[in-house]
Amino acid sequence: NERVVIVGAGLAGVHTASHLRDAGWQGGIDLLGAEPHRPYDRPPLSKELLTGEVADSWLETDLDALGVRLRTGVAATGLDTAGRRLETDAGPVAWDHLVIATGAAPRALPGAAHAPGVHLLRTLDDARELRAALVPGARLVVVGAGWIGAEVTSTARAAGCEVVVVEAAGAPLPGVLPAEAAEPMRRWYRESGARLLTGTPVTEVRSDGVRLADGGHEPADAVLVAVGSRPDTGWLTGTGVPLGADGSVLADDRLRAGPPGVYAVGDCASFPSARYGRRLLVQHWDNALHGPATVAAAITGGDPAPYDPVPTFWSRQFGRMVQSAGLHSPTDRLLHRGSPAGEDGWTVCWTAPDGTLTAVLTVDRPRDLAQGRRLVEQRALVDPAAVADPAIPLKRA
Ligand code: FAD
Repeated sequence: NERVVIVGAGLAGVHTASHLRDAGWQGGIDLLGAEPHRPYDRPPLSKELLTGEVADSWLETDLDALGVRLRTGVAATGLDTAGRRLETDAGPVAWDHLVIATGAAPRALPGAAHAPGVHLLRTLDDARELRAALVPGARLVVVGAGWIGAEVTSTARAAGCEVVVVEAAGAPLPGVLPAEAAEPMRRWYRESGARLLTGTPVTEVRSDGVRLADGGHEPADAVLVAVGSRPDTGWLTGTGVPLGADGSVLADDRLRAGPPGVYAVGDCASFPSARYGRRLLVQHWDNALHGPATVAAAITGGDPAPYDPVPTFWSRQFGRMVQSAGLHSPTDRLLHRGSPAGEDGWTVCWTAPDGTLTAVLTVDRPRDLAQGRRLVEQRALVDPAAVADPAIPLKRA
């Protein structure tokens, strides 16, 4: 009886297990997770689970009914690809097919990464610890004005904390949005009552606050370091599984990861995109949801189409729903659709030099997201004047 061993019991790992059964896999499935918990969903950790609106975010997939053997609290430590053996802190595990789905780990900053009062946010335990620190009047310093920094700032303000956000770049969401598109979000911080410092690198994190490159110090009762994450693949070093400079497993377009029988999916894996003409590392929920179907088809002998999605993403922050689809490049033209100052939400679109729509970012405009995503998928030509008019639905030129 052949056995698939899935390493990492997050969204990508669980969905790989269920897609394997959907695809007719009748062999064994082992799902190994380093955390002590059964599988859960991460997006609520910076949102409704952090506010206390919901108590948990367990994934609903019934692993018992699928005949999946879940082993929690077991971490992979190494791999023998020739002998098809996984090393774990609970002993070796034999596999016929191995799926790497170990996700990502948050980056730390120099200083007291593990000191009391210094938080990272990736796991349920991280979220519970941070939630306990968000008491009225507490002073929270958030390092990084990215997606998670913004979401936690909203939550902490709602909980009555004093919040200072320190961002090294000149505007929120650096590396994701050009400053022109992110500038309106500065106002969201201000209106929430948080203080946002941009162009202010942090040089040291301590239990009592952060030290800034300009010599300043921001005191804190709690510090959240939210400066991005990196594939959690250190355990694969030297195993023959190819790793990129960004730490990702270098998968191919069927998410095969080099040695025969090895696959990688979710936040830990990059893949070559024909659509974008380059390798992509997508660390969003939607990618962890959809990649597993390709892995399951490849394992069960199907002939999956190349995995080449349009990346999509959402974030709920400051009472707003921000969504995006597609990727833009520096040579793309940015088009504003509606005003950030208005009440009805707004959208930013990007077009390539050939006039096709490459990406949309929407704020409280779900219809623009749905229509825009379809056009991005189809590489549709759009009329810039019509795109700029929020009263006209997004459509082909
Ligand atoms: P993970 O969910 O990280 O799961 C990997 C699992 O593998 C983990 O449980 C880990 O403990 C385990 N593991 C790691 N190493 C080992 C090992 N050596 N052995 C065994 N197990 C191991 N995306 C969105 O699109 N929208 C959002 O609003 C959004 N909000 C987010 C909020 C937060 C706070 C976080 C942290 C992420 C958010 N994301 C969001 C991103 C989204 O949650 C991830 O893209 C998704 O969880 C990736 O799933 P995954 O299964 O690849 O990895």
